[in-house]
Amino acid sequence: MNCIKHPEVVAVSKCVECGAGLCSECVKVSEYRRDNKPFCRDCNFNLINELLRDDTKAKKWLLAKLIANALFIVLGTIVLLGGGDPIFAVVVIALGGIPTAWKLFSPSKEEKWENKIDDAVAEYKGTGSGFFNSIIRFFIRVLFTVVVGAIAAPILLIVNIVKFVKCNNRIKGYEDELANFADI
Ligand SMILES: [Zn+2]
Ligand SMILES: [Zn+2]
Repeated sequence: MNCIKHPEVVAVSKCVECGAGLCSECVKVSEYRRDNKPFCRDCNFNLINELLRDDTKAKKWLLAKLIANALFIVLGTIVLLGGGDPIFAVVVIALGGIPTAWKLFSPSKEEKWENKIDDAVAEYKGTGSGFFNSIIRFFIRVLFTVVVGAIAAPILLIVNIVKFVKCNNRIKGYEDELANFADI
């Protein structure tokens, strides 16, 4: 088998994606590798485009999250500085951190089963109602979510800014790589 790009040269390897033959020069210039195996020119090109698409989408999401997060922090701070209800201010600041905090306090499968058993025992013994217990658990989760959400919101903002910058740098890198393809 010969190289797909240099038909006069004997292939020393194959493209890990499409199986096309690759000469030693083409192996050397392969920008990406899977399991340490090279890609051919076209498969490198497609892969970079795919990565670029994914990161472009991710960048939009990160930006939306970042803006919402920053907005809630600013609004909450304005409420606080304006002499508004501090609890309301904390809830507003927490809004950006709430989805993350809510997931954090999601009960595990085992905890859900334990709760069900506790509720059933309480019902049989007449010491409580399962429905009432589940409402209590829900409000405790809401409370934890708001408190942790308020603490998490500024941290998440910083984390998302860092992620956004990294994502943006990757996009620039892909664009440079794609521009280089024109020269190959
Ligand atoms: Zn290929
Ligand atoms: Zn070649």
